[in-house]
Amino acid sequence: MFNLILFGPPGAGKGTQAIKIAEKFGWKHVSTGDILRAEVSLGTPLGLKVRAVMEAGHLVSDELLIEIMESVFVNNSTVKGFVLDGFPRTLKQAQELDQMLEKHGETVSLVLALEVNEDELVKRLLKRAQDQGRKDDTEEVIKNRLVQYHHHTKPLIDYYKNKNLYTEIFGEGTIDQIFGQLCSVIKP
Ligand code: AMP
Repeated sequence: MFNLILFGPPGAGKGTQAIKIAEKFGWKHVSTGDILRAEVSLGTPLGLKVRAVMEAGHLVSDELLIEIMESVFVNNSTVKGFVLDGFPRTLKQAQELDQMLEKHGETVSLVLALEVNEDELVKRLLKRAQDQGRKDDTEEVIKNRLVQYHHHTKPLIDYYKNKNLYTEIFGEGTIDQIFGQLCSVIKP
């Protein structure tokens, strides 16, 4: 099983590229943001619990994310690979992910990071706010989301570099150019 983590700050293009990679290789795309947004719009107990946190641009608790990912793995035990988009986002999540995979005789195969400069990120997120009307894409919330990224998620770069799993791709250019570069380093 190929376990790919698509890594990068909000607005780096992880979602767009994760869908394309999953389609090309026949893997399962898992976006924790999409899973959580679906719970919010369905008004489930989980959705009610996380709604305010998401709308403020903060991170949902590690415990909830780990529960969600455990059920993703249990319910997709026959897939050939995963493209994880938006998870892990904290050191604790990364460590728990390693343990979850280990239980099934699996490991993280590769961490591909999309690198985009901060001005471009803010520009893209503001445009997405207009196009998709995401509640967490207002200017103040965007700032919060980037702070969360720098504070909680960026330390994962060293975590995966130490495991020799980390590769960075420049995430500016056309969608197809970036997709081509990502695919050139994925060796299933
Ligand atoms: P995303 O679509 O990946 O940007 O996620 C949208 C929001 O969902 C984030 O701003 C967080 O509030 C929440 N979220 C998604 N994935 C995670 C995660 N792995 N850990 C904590 N919160 C998450």
